[in-house]
Amino acid sequence: MRIGSIDGRLKLVLADGCVDVERASNARFSADPQQAFARFEELRDWAGAVTSPDAPFAAERADCPVPNPRQVFAIGLNYSDHAAESGLAKPDAPVVFTKFQSSLAGPDEDVVLPQGSVDWEVELVVIVGKRADSVDVSKGWDHVAGLTVGQDLSERDLQRSGPAPQFGLAKSHHGFAPLGPCVVSVDEFQAPDDLALGCKVNDVVMQQGRTRELIFPVPELISYLSHVVTLYPGDVIFTGTPAGVGMGRTPPVYLQVGDVLESWIEGIGTITQRFIDADSRARAGRST
Ligand code: ZN
Repeated sequence: MRIGSIDGRLKLVLADGCVDVERASNARFSADPQQAFARFEELRDWAGAVTSPDAPFAAERADCPVPNPRQVFAIGLNYSDHAAESGLAKPDAPVVFTKFQSSLAGPDEDVVLPQGSVDWEVELVVIVGKRADSVDVSKGWDHVAGLTVGQDLSERDLQRSGPAPQFGLAKSHHGFAPLGPCVVSVDEFQAPDDLALGCKVNDVVMQQGRTRELIFPVPELISYLSHVVTLYPGDVIFTGTPAGVGMGRTPPVYLQVGDVLESWIEGIGTITQRFIDADSRARAGRST
């Protein structure tokens, strides 16, 4: 099952379009995309019998498929080659931080470029499907609803200011956590532990990797996190980025006004961010 959001309403995404879930289910399921994860298996059972789309589904029109999670986790240094390019040791336990909820955005939105050094990080993003408390690694995938594409956009000057890293704030400017274009349920993947992912800036490939290279794979992250906190349906976990970020280049490369960033994961799709200055946002009359 693939689910997404258009005009803030939950859509079931089919090969040739989408279906409005609340209307097609006669209000058995809520139009609120976030509510999909509280009854994910039930929704998937219902979706199996739906075959005819009632509208097109285009990433350019889609909203964030997980707009209101209770918690957003992110994992740092979870690929060896990225840890190396960051000049840091391979971690012996997951490095966990948060991106604040207000940074969540749709799959295809303009991002106002803040002052500083803004960098890209394509990431596999996990959406929790079942409450998880002290879950064994072998049961990790059972607690995942689906997977989506995310960018962990990061402003490196703020991140590196002060005596300890400011991951949470530096990675939470408006639009710094785009997700989408849809959430794909785990059963849709033949090998959910080995997906190709990458990103390009202005058509130049910057990152390319496979999720089998994760130091702490998805089930280990679910287990590790759930031994400290409770994970709830609809929670979001950014799983870390492979090598090729701008900070790790010589000289470093950062995003500029006018740049287009495209990020993809095998079996899910592509998200696209255009970087604009605050003035062009004001001219276009759009609010952030
Ligand atoms: Zn990251």
